[in-house]
Amino acid sequence: MKRITLFAAAALATSLAWAEYPDKPITIVVPFAAGGPTDKVARDLGVVLGKELKQTVIIENVGGAGGTLGANKVAKAAPDGYTMLLHHIGMATSPALYRNLPFKVLDDFEYLGMVNDVPMTLIGRPSLPASNYAELMKWIEANKGKINLANAGLGAASHLCGLLFQQSLKVDMTTVPYKGTGPAMTDLLGGQVDIMCDQTTNTSSQIEGGKVKAFAVTTTKRLTTPALAKLPTLDESGLKGFNVSIWHGMYAPKGTPKAVVDKVNAALRNSLKDADFIKKQEALGAVVVTDARLAPADHKKFVEAEIAKWGPAIKAAGQYAD
Ligand code: ASP
Repeated sequence: MKRITLFAAAALATSLAWAEYPDKPITIVVPFAAGGPTDKVARDLGVVLGKELKQTVIIENVGGAGGTLGANKVAKAAPDGYTMLLHHIGMATSPALYRNLPFKVLDDFEYLGMVNDVPMTLIGRPSLPASNYAELMKWIEANKGKINLANAGLGAASHLCGLLFQQSLKVDMTTVPYKGTGPAMTDLLGGQVDIMCDQTTNTSSQIEGGKVKAFAVTTTKRLTTPALAKLPTLDESGLKGFNVSIWHGMYAPKGTPKAVVDKVNAALRNSLKDADFIKKQEALGAVVVTDARLAPADHKKFVEAEIAKWGPAIKAAGQYAD
């Protein structure tokens, strides 16, 4: 009896300790450079999440090594709910790509819920002498061995998409890694790199403004977002079955108290119902998650399934980093 009372008192003390959470600013680590697509999602989400949690949300960009540096920083951070991670599909591709990944994707994080699904687009520098997919194919054929493909490092979505594109065409390109596709876009606009595959959250405004050459979307269905609706799919353009859509989720270091996980998850669910946030995401071609993956357990199951889906394809391609 006495023991039960002690346990009950301890449980009460723990829940009271977290009742005030959050009582100081929260940092969301973005594992890519500022100005890119993951950063854009995090900054828009940070505003609504901050309102929900009644706290300031700070975005910290920790780019490099395809998102693994930022993810590692959060894996090793104090599990107190004040450091979180917003990451994309790289969470699921990194175990196959990095032989010495310094964290365990399924063991070292608390899963907080998924945020959105985002298609990608194949784009080119403005001076590229090709204005549609057929012309791009001719240009690639004529320039084999000289083509530069920008990406955000091994494990990035742009890496994965670019890898599948090269495999589908059976053409090798020189990859140029950046800390994120924000800076990669700057170089593409300046003509320093030729082509890039990147999320619509980064490319739609450049496509709409006619600033880059846009060739195709990477999903099997055409998109309905006005800025992107005219683009063919890679599948219909000849790369049968080409289908890449990426996703973002939120994570906290393993051991973050359940009371905090529940509170952030509830705030995230509310944020994803925010009309302004939904409208912004839709305008960028992204779709806010409304399904079971909002629940931490289903989010984790989904990542597990994605690891199983992409791992063998990446290993078969012989892509590794130590
Ligand atoms: N789009 C980048 C990627 O290829 C990441 C970023 O800068 O947000 O993964």
